[in-house]
Amino acid sequence: MLKMVELHGGGVEVESEPGRGSRFIMTFPWQGIQTQETSVESSPSIGLPEVEANTIRSMILIVEDNLLYLNLLTDVLSHCGYHVITALNGEEGIATAREKLPQLILLDIQMPILDGFQATRKIRSYPELGKTPIIALTAPAMNGDREKCFQAGMNDYISKPVSIDELQKVFEDQLYLHKIE
Ligand code: MN
Repeated sequence: MLKMVELHGGGVEVESEPGRGSRFIMTFPWQGIQTQETSVESSPSIGLPEVEANTIRSMILIVEDNLLYLNLLTDVLSHCGYHVITALNGEEGIATAREKLPQLILLDIQMPILDGFQATRKIRSYPELGKTPIIALTAPAMNGDREKCFQAGMNDYISKPVSIDELQKVFEDQLYLHKIE
């Protein structure tokens, strides 16, 4: 299977072979300099599970200001069987969370208007969203921000570039914990 989504002169490529996992490659040109390539890969052991007919799909809200990254994550997580809804900044993320009440929120830290920490505090101020798992998406080197994530009320964090296996593991852990509370 090969799928290409065109995005502003770049693209998201998904290669998948049965039993061999999948590879997602995001490319975009930077002002004619050189093409930057970001990829996320899933291991053969996990692959991309087909959605089972009797499974109720968990609704995941992704809040991310980088449109390419947002589209990549949406594509990947939809393949993994989640019902994905999106927002492009903290403020929009809060409004969408209140309206749709997702089972889990994946929240970028560095965003305009409201950053991930501010958005989390605001989300936590609404009783209906007080316990919704919030996973931070952090930049590669944000050592000091780990504590800030937890202090703001986030449940876990994932560093970019994102590994699909790690993403699925964190999601499953959080969704499970949330259900047995
Ligand atoms: Mn960002």
